Amino acid sequence: MSYKATPYNFCPVCGNPLITLVIDKLPRRTCPKCSYVHWGDFSLGVGGVLWHEGKVLLVQRGHNPGKGMWTIPGGYVDQGEPIGTAVVREIQEETGIIAKPLSLIALRDRPGEKHDAYIIFLMQLLGGSLQAQPEEVSNLGFFTLEECQNLPIPSLTLNALKASQSKSQGLVLNADVDLLGALSTLYQIP
Ligand SMILES: [Zn+2]
Repeated sequence: MSYKATPYNFCPVCGNPLITLVIDKLPRRTCPKCSYVHWGDFSLGVGGVLWHEGKVLLVQRGHNPGKGMWTIPGGYVDQGEPIGTAVVREIQEETGIIAKPLSLIALRDRPGEKHDAYIIFLMQLLGGSLQAQPEEVSNLGFFTLEECQNLPIPSLTLNALKASQSKSQGLVLNADVDLLGALSTLYQIP
C-alpha cells in the first residue's frame, strides 16, 4: 500500500512510449500514437465502525504501514464493486464477522501524488464469529471506547469512533432514485 504514484512510461492501451503534454492546464502523461491520457491515480478505501453491546470491533494491523496499530476493519474497493458491498466483504474477510451498512458517517480525503479517499460506514452486526485473517490481521476484538483510547490507535480511527456515537445518522442509501449506470447508488441525508 503506497501513497506514491508510480510514473507511467508506456501507454497501457497500445504500448507506445508516453510523453508529457499540458492538457487542461496540467502536465499529463499522454500517448502520441493513440491519444490515451493518464488523468491521475486515485484509490478508494472503506472502513466499518461496528458496535456490539457497548464495544466496537477493532483489528490490529499485521503489516506496515501502521504495523501493530489498532484500526477499524476495512480495505480497498475493487473495480466495479459498490462501496457498501466492499465494506461488508472487507469486514468479513478480516474478522469473520458478518455486518450490514447502516449509514455513511465520515470521509477522509487525502489528495497527493495518489489521491486517496476513505469512506467510513456505521455497521450493524448480523452474525459470524471472530476469526482473524492471518495475512493481514495479527489480533482483533471488541473494545469499549475507554479501552480504545489506551490502545495504539490512529487519531482518524478514534475520531470516527467518537463521531459514530453521535445521534445524527449520517448519509443513508436511497434506493428509490433511478440513476444513470447500472451500479450507481445515491447516499444522502435522510
Ligand atoms: Zn497509446
